[in-house]
Amino acid sequence: MNKQNLLDTLTRIDGRGYPAYKDIRGSYHMGSYILHIDHVQSDPFASPSRIRIEVPQSKAGFPASLYDTPVRHRALSDYLTRQLILCVHRYAKGNRGSGKSGAVRVQSLGQEILERTSVVIDRDKAEARLTVGLPAAGRRVLGRQAIGMFGEELPRIAEGALCLKSLNAQEIQEQVDLCEDQAYLRDWLKQNDCVAFVAEGSVLPRRSGVDDRPMEGGAIAFVPPESLTREVNLPHRGAIKGMAVPRGITLITGGGYHGKSTLLRAIERGVYDHIAGDGREYVVTDPYAMKIRAEDGRRVEKADIGLFINDLPNGESTESFSTENASGSTSQAANIAEALEAGATVLLLDEDTSATNFMIRDARMQRLIPSEKEPITPFIDRVRGLYTEMGVSTVLVIGGSGDYFDVSDRVVLMDHYEPYDVTARARSIASEQPTRRSVQGAEQGISVRERIPLTGSLELQGRRQKVKSRGVDAIRYGDTELQLDDVEQLVDPNQTRAIAEIIRYARRYMEGDRTLKEIIEMVLTDMDQKGLDVLSPYRGHPGEMARPRGLEIAAAFNRLRILRVRQK
Ligand code: ADP
Ligand code: MG
Repeated sequence: MNKQNLLDTLTRIDGRGYPAYKDIRGSYHMGSYILHIDHVQSDPFASPSRIRIEVPQSKAGFPASLYDTPVRHRALSDYLTRQLILCVHRYAKGNRGSGKSGAVRVQSLGQEILERTSVVIDRDKAEARLTVGLPAAGRRVLGRQAIGMFGEELPRIAEGALCLKSLNAQEIQEQVDLCEDQAYLRDWLKQNDCVAFVAEGSVLPRRSGVDDRPMEGGAIAFVPPESLTREVNLPHRGAIKGMAVPRGITLITGGGYHGKSTLLRAIERGVYDHIAGDGREYVVTDPYAMKIRAEDGRRVEKADIGLFINDLPNGESTESFSTENASGSTSQAANIAEALEAGATVLLLDEDTSATNFMIRDARMQRLIPSEKEPITPFIDRVRGLYTEMGVSTVLVIGGSGDYFDVSDRVVLMDHYEPYDVTARARSIASEQPTRRSVQGAEQGISVRERIPLTGSLELQGRRQKVKSRGVDAIRYGDTELQLDDVEQLVDPNQTRAIAEIIRYARRYMEGDRTLKEIIEMVLTDMDQKGLDVLSPYRGHPGEMARPRGLEIAAAFNRLRILRVRQK
């Protein structure tokens, strides 16, 4: 069909009841672009209609060198999404009647450069996925308003955001190069036995707790301590210096308000790439680093927390521990057990969000409460074993207990937002002033049992088939609410939406003895091979999604209150 067919239909249904809009579903050659109307909303107040704008590559003009690897495609797609948002702002007229009439939307985004469903580029086309509110007065079709949207607004948006000649080619190349440099740096970490890199000059503090953009004015740029400084030669940017955190156990300490948590938070986010101007462009972390925190109230399903907790007063097993309402310490133990099971290689902990009795028990407390009356083996007695026996490194923020000097490979002190290597000093204090505490649970080996999700436990019943996400932190799966507030490296609402789809999608792989980790790996492989669109139950526009990590997918499964598993 062509533009005239669409205009004819819109003229014909003008003034009729809203369901008449169903007639415009289909694909149209609009001259400069192809319009795909994949889904038509049922009324002006419902979720808006899903459309795609396809510009043939002959017109879009992107050279293959901007999208021919996964990293490049992610960088370009993310860049074009940002341009789409600008063009929608510039060219879309907005309100054209009742409800969502006239609204044009692209998936929202933040500071991270993620793989997204919003723009797809290949040899044949550049394609944008948008939603539009089809115009209505009350519940009557406003055909002429719709003609304005499809005939004037969308061509301008397509022209402005999907054609190289209207874009800043140099900026695009810079974003692609930046992503490649960040990917290179992440690879460098692996080759050099490091877990994180924080470049000299990085700006770590954010504008506020709810605004992830860099702090304006007054931010003190990062200065790496000399002993930990490494120089890396990036393919595009060239030589860059920064603090390289080696594998092993790294303690970040210092006075309150001196920037400890801010540094750790930047390291947490370093599992993702960041846009130019963010301040964390060259803060890069092992992609399998997982933030661990206490999360009392969460549900736990048959987790093996025996590493940390034994002999509970109620006699419950801790090698297969379940609860609907975990305590601070048991939730933190479960979070570690699950992260290890899902393949985490680095644990990131902050005293601000940890359970004290999970982190430490000092000598006096050991005297008062004998170990047979204390179910908890504190993290301090496990952190070395996790490294020596499982190769799992830890970076932890602690300003309140020097007992950790004994188990740390290095100690970084934050002083007025500047890091200093105080390892030698901490060592000598540790030998002058022994803690006199006894190490607990040293005889026990370090391992975590894998779990197998039970087929059927995630089936959706009858009418309650709906899967929906709200913001970054909530998913509704059928009748079940899933809270993800404390999964701190889940950063983008589009990732959460993808996870909601993944829970449903992954059921096809739940069978036999397949472990949760294996199932998630199969889903990740599908995403690698077929793109994120594969997760969607829809044809055409797949919905607004961005790629989550396997670790966050696992975290979501583990918090789902209807999941049932058996241990391997
Ligand atoms: P700590 O964990 O050591 O108590 P935080 O990391 O929470 O300290 O930082 C305390 C405050 O200082 C926060 O408001 C934070 O935004 C700000 N801050 C952190 N790093 C910097 C920096 N490099 N420059 C300016 N302000 C910073
Ligand atoms: Mg803090």
